Amino acid sequence: MIGILDLQGGVAEHREHLEYLEVGCVSVKKAEHLKGISGLIIPGGESTCLSKLLEIFSLKEPILAAHRNGMKIWGTCAGAILLATEIGGESPYFSVMEMAVQRNSFGSQMDSFTTEALVDGVDTEPIPLVFIRAPKIIRVGGNVRILLKMGDYIAAAESADALVTIFHPELTNNSAFHRYFAAKCGEAFAKAKLLADPGWRETSWMGSGEQSPK
Ligand code: GLN
Repeated sequence: MIGILDLQGGVAEHREHLEYLEVGCVSVKKAEHLKGISGLIIPGGESTCLSKLLEIFSLKEPILAAHRNGMKIWGTCAGAILLATEIGGESPYFSVMEMAVQRNSFGSQMDSFTTEALVDGVDTEPIPLVFIRAPKIIRVGGNVRILLKMGDYIAAAESADALVTIFHPELTNNSAFHRYFAAKCGEAFAKAKLLADPGWRETSWMGSGEQSPK
């Protein structure tokens, strides 16, 4: 069973991928919802807002305790920021992934973009990537394996018990990262399936490639 932190951000989209993969999932709004889950997804959204909600809902310590007891964590975008041990100039939050991130490092919301990349070990085909006012991972520690490096930044990485992506796999029709996380958590999952295209490519205001519209 995989939990999705359900306070703010892309919760429904992550749930849709897990449901397609037939992985049991549960919304995590209270500490008691952490019982018996093998992994927790912290979705993208806004990291300051998420950290305030985590305090209001008294979830920080229970999540850290579950993580110490073996629960894996996957942070997407804002979720990844919350896991970092260094957040340029700000206090780290969970501080469980040895890495330095810089928030909003690609510019404003309008500098968001989509691209794709081959991520060795995650899929054999290029994976679509959606960057929305993303942070950059600029450095990782010795126990962190880089899964995807792009230009001067790291876009995906993992340690033995955590996964971070600065992009949003849940906003695409490709479930490769959800399969990868399910496997990391020891969960069985259905064969690869592609979700119906949510249409973001056609209707999105985001640019394609690393250069975004000004
Ligand atoms: N800019 C956001 C932050 O700093 C992250 C954006 C996202 O999750 N797409 O928290």
